[in-house]
Amino acid sequence: MDLGKTTKMPRVVIVGGGFGGINLAKKLKNKPVEVLMLDKHNYHTFQPLLYQVAMGYIEADSIAFPFRRIFTGQKNFSFNLADVQKINPEKNTVTTDIGEIAYDYLVIATGANTNFFGNKEIEHFTMPMKNVAEALNIRSFMLQNLEKAVVEKDNDEREALLTFVVVGGGPTGVELSGALAEMRNNILCKDYPSLCQEDMKVYLVEGKSVVLGAMSASASTEAKKALLTMGVVIYNGVHVQSYDGYELKIDDGKVIETRNVFWAAGVMGEVPQGIAEGTIARGGRIQTDEINRVVGYQNIFAIGDVSAMITPETPNGLPGMAQGAIQTGQHLAKNIMHLINEEPTEPFKYFDKGSLATIGQYKAVADIWKLHFHGYPAWLLWMFVHLMSLVGFSNKVSVLVSWAIKYFSRNTDNRLIVRFFNTETRMTESVPK
Ligand SMILES: Cc1cc2nc3c(=O)[nH]c(=O)nc-3n(C[C@H](O)[C@H](O)[C@H](O)COP(=O)(O)OP(=O)(O)OC[C@H]3O[C@@H](n4cnc5c(N)ncnc54)[C@H](O)[C@@H]3O)c2cc1C
Repeated sequence: MDLGKTTKMPRVVIVGGGFGGINLAKKLKNKPVEVLMLDKHNYHTFQPLLYQVAMGYIEADSIAFPFRRIFTGQKNFSFNLADVQKINPEKNTVTTDIGEIAYDYLVIATGANTNFFGNKEIEHFTMPMKNVAEALNIRSFMLQNLEKAVVEKDNDEREALLTFVVVGGGPTGVELSGALAEMRNNILCKDYPSLCQEDMKVYLVEGKSVVLGAMSASASTEAKKALLTMGVVIYNGVHVQSYDGYELKIDDGKVIETRNVFWAAGVMGEVPQGIAEGTIARGGRIQTDEINRVVGYQNIFAIGDVSAMITPETPNGLPGMAQGAIQTGQHLAKNIMHLINEEPTEPFKYFDKGSLATIGQYKAVADIWKLHFHGYPAWLLWMFVHLMSLVGFSNKVSVLVSWAIKYFSRNTDNRLIVRFFNTETRMTESVPK
């Protein structure tokens, strides 16, 4: 395959087709540049609805959309399925599993990955949720353990199979624990009559003294209230010390016997090799200046979750949210064209549109500028924003239909075990033929 340039125009190589990458590529449409996107998946993932895939609320396909389909008709765009392994700034190339690829401008948009804070045991035995495969792992694992609980004779093991612990009380942890409680309250007894509701326990463990610590005090309080009403047991202000696949030890001395631990306690930038170590800021993110140019490089940029634009206004970088990635991606398109045309660049300014989190049906919290509200209006707004932000018309329709079915029946249809886990090795095994 020829991985060389196809035109005389400058080539912008974008590594990663998340919110940042696709918005940058779209804004470069009809511009005199060659845009090459590289991603290890052939589709864009809408991460905010991953937890709904994990809980079987919606189909996995409905939150993903193939890049080649998104960019049909964009003549200056091409895509290669490639895992970028290393950046070679001295040669202006990237090393990938399909060969070495040259760039004139390189944009790193590789997002973030789960942070286990160096604890290998926790990494091995807990389950993260950053992509479609991991969400499907959680779905299969949860259903597999419910099936095991139905036939388990040992009471302690049965209890451990029916105990679910979510670590991390940010939006992902709150949404996941709320959805688990909802599944326990609405579905468990219908699907598994022998497992009565009280048998399944849901815990949320969070190091800070509140849940949703990055949102307003009112959002934190309302989210906690909603989770408690749904029967989630919340441990605030404590940290998980260890988990060996059975006993989860917390630093206040508590021990929870569980077979199901979902890890939503931290993220770190997914930084490819080859970027100077001195440019890596807090949270493992690449430090950039105010036009998203990686500090110390002329033609390498970083946007979205992998980047940390440290300015007096944003001393910790932008929040790791879709809006940060979308806005930095869109703005960088302008600045790349300014650089090519030898014009002055425009510093990036973040426009905070607010934050939303959902806890369950009719339950959500919203901070929109100075407005803080919760309950039904916040839940309707959450649904509208997420539906509108999904890529692809068919995905919007599919998710809307699944939500309508869930709304009226209080049940869902996607509870398939598509892969088996070996509980000890945590390796996936294919389902029997
Ligand atoms: C479970 C969950 C729920 C969330 N909920 C919300 C929410 O409700 N609201 C909100 O605003 N934000 C939410 N977020 C955060 C939001 O999804 C991210 O901020 C956003 O996706 C970041 O976009 P990005 O473009 O930087 O990276 P990503 O969307 O992570 O995309 C990175 C892309 O890079 C590719 N990639 C990575 N490494 C390589 C490599 N070496 N080679 C090739 N390709 C590579 C990946 O395959 C991926 O396609 C959530 C995130 C998660 C995980």
